[in-house]
Amino acid sequence: MLSNGRVFPDYEPTELGIAAQLAVKAVAKATGTPQKDVEKKLVALGDIGLVAEYFVSRKRQSTLSSGQLTVEKVFRTTQEIAKQVGKGSQERKLSLISSLVTAASPIEARYIIRTLLQQMRVGIAEGVIRDAIAKAFNVSAEGVERAWNMKSDFSEIAVAAKKHGENGLKKIKLEIGKSVQVLLAEKSPDLKTALGSFENVAIEWKMDGMRCQIHKQGNKVLIFTRRLENVTRQFPDMVKLVQKCVAAKDCIVEGEAIAIDMKTRRPLPFQVLSQRIQRKHEIERMVREIPVQVNLFDVVYVEGGQLFEKPLRERRKILEKIIKPDDDFRIIGQLVTKDLKKAEKFYKEALNNNQEGVMVKNLDALYIPGRNVAGGWLKVKPTMENLDLVIVGATWGTGKRSGWLTSFVLAVRDPDTDKFLECGMMSTGIKEKKENGMDITYGDMTEMLKPLIEKQESGLVKIKPKIVIEVAYEEIQKSPTYASGFGLRFPRFVRIRNEKSERESETMERLQKMYDMQKK
Ligand code: AMP
Repeated sequence: MLSNGRVFPDYEPTELGIAAQLAVKAVAKATGTPQKDVEKKLVALGDIGLVAEYFVSRKRQSTLSSGQLTVEKVFRTTQEIAKQVGKGSQERKLSLISSLVTAASPIEARYIIRTLLQQMRVGIAEGVIRDAIAKAFNVSAEGVERAWNMKSDFSEIAVAAKKHGENGLKKIKLEIGKSVQVLLAEKSPDLKTALGSFENVAIEWKMDGMRCQIHKQGNKVLIFTRRLENVTRQFPDMVKLVQKCVAAKDCIVEGEAIAIDMKTRRPLPFQVLSQRIQRKHEIERMVREIPVQVNLFDVVYVEGGQLFEKPLRERRKILEKIIKPDDDFRIIGQLVTKDLKKAEKFYKEALNNNQEGVMVKNLDALYIPGRNVAGGWLKVKPTMENLDLVIVGATWGTGKRSGWLTSFVLAVRDPDTDKFLECGMMSTGIKEKKENGMDITYGDMTEMLKPLIEKQESGLVKIKPKIVIEVAYEEIQKSPTYASGFGLRFPRFVRIRNEKSERESETMERLQKMYDMQKK
């Protein structure tokens, strides 16, 4: 897990919660350097990992203590750091971090600090870890992949592979409470192609909300997002709905949660719901102000049995059996047809109801979890699509906009190098003042991005790539100014894509493809 830059499996809600400032203090404390010297060096080197390395190596020259760190020790201490909450926690975290830095050699200090700040970006994709486990313990990569899809915890998988080989991997079963990789959709160019792709299809609205994987075990309920983040705490209302409306004792069901307007009960855009996902305080007030509605579309586990091997039509029947629907907890409507006219009407209804489009699903398809697999879901959305880009920088505003970040540097991901390459600068679409609940203001953006600031040079700040936003634009142009070689003309903010991680943003390849398509 450490090699993946993580200390907990994805499904654990625990976060390390270490700000750059705390790392600065820890380096100062561990190396007996005045804090302002560490800060100065940080401005010069721009990377706190390198700063830690620099000061530890200077200290090493004057003392004889040698690094006695083991991976085990680093891992345990890191977990210990994450456990510190409440009063005095910053102090305790500071001692723990500086104890690691004190014991570290210079190069160890560099990587420990980067790991703690989750800045490793070693780019060890899951595929590489999968292959490494396969090679180390002489098991098949497919076996490791299958186990990972069932239970996304490489540490457990590695132990099983080491102890019992291929058989050990087979024994890794889905477990309630530990998130399962989800089935994902592929794009279809248009409705007609999608309808023609499978023999038997069902069409559903593609709702603009948050994918939730809901685990119920007796009275206990856990809610995960598609990135397998545990969001149970933010949605006590959803927990109650599950307890009320799910007849099965144990199950895992999936659906899309959307925000709905309190008065009209019409669906609201994802941006509104995203306020609930991020909320850590005053949750009860948010529950009242932004009610959610869950639209279920699948079930993968019921009463001890996993349902991956069953076709969608059967899974849906099981879902209908175990759900007692309620206004806010229901099974998503389906239209079973191959008639293009009827399908088009349904598609238009979805768009008129502020939804993204439709999902065309193969009724005979099994549930195949995991990335890059065709599981029989085709999404159909309006074309000349917006791009999901990562914010990697910003500039501070001036005049009446001073104190706010007002211009944002956008980037695509290059999967080959795991770097983010710039492709534009955007300011349009963000508001100065909130005119309605859905508006995102410069203030909102500043609050969200401030903790991610990595480096600052005059008015320009470098931002840790984490926040994904959907951007509309007029055209993609070739541009020598940006590292990607492309620049967006008139980029305009559409919404924040909280449900996507930076790794799920558009890739260099897709940007190139969109550019080629546009030329045609
Ligand atoms: P995308 O994020 O564009 O790849 O589309 C896949 C996502 O659409 C899923 O992860 C769900 O969060 C969402 N979604 C909305 N409506 C549905 C639906 N009816 N069936 C499946 N997924 C849906």
